Amino acid sequence: MRGIYPGTFDPITNGHLDIIKRATRIVDDLVVAVGHNTEKVRTFDIETRIQMVRDSVQDCPNVEVVSFQTLLVDAAKEQGANVIIRGLRAISDYELEVQMAIMNRTLDPDIDTIILVASKEYSFISSSLIKEIAHFGGDISKFVPESVLKYYKPTGRE
Ligand code: ADP
Repeated sequence: MRGIYPGTFDPITNGHLDIIKRATRIVDDLVVAVGHNTEKVRTFDIETRIQMVRDSVQDCPNVEVVSFQTLLVDAAKEQGANVIIRGLRAISDYELEVQMAIMNRTLDPDIDTIILVASKEYSFISSSLIKEIAHFGGDISKFVPESVLKYYKPTGRE
C-alpha cells in the first residue's frame, strides 16, 4: 500500500508529523504532498514549505516529499498511491474531510481515504494558530519540529 498525505503544511507542525509517523505504520511507503493551494493565504512559499517538511521527516524511512498543483486524485495516480491519508482533530474538521473523501472517491473509485484521529496531545495544534502565536512573538517550539524554528526570525525580545 502506498499512501499520499496531502496538505498545505504552512508550516508543518508536530500534529502533521504525528500523522506522518502513524501513517507509515499502516502503509508501505508514504508520499507527503505539499499543495500549492490557491485559496489559502500562505506564509511560506512552496519551496520553503517543502524544505521544512523534508527536514522534519529525515529520520522517517519510506517517506518522500513532493509538491503538487493538480487534482489530488491525479497527483495520487501520478505518485502510484492508492490511499489518501488525512488527519481529523475535531468535529470542525469532520465536515470538510468527509466531503473531500467522498468527492475524491467519486472522482477516482480506486483511491480511498484513511482518516487518522489526531493524538490528544496534538489535537489543538493548527498551522494557523502557530502563525498567529509566532506573529506576536510567542514561543512555538513545543508545537513545531525543530527544523521549522529557523525559518522564524527572532522577534527582538530579550
Ligand atoms: P489542508 O490545507 O489540506 O487542510 P493542512 O496542512 O492544514 O492542509 O492539513 C493537512 C491535513 O493534516 C488535514 O487532514 C488536517 O486535518 C491534518 N492536520 C492538521 N493539523 C493536525 C494535527 N494537529 N493533528 C492531526 N492532523 C492534523
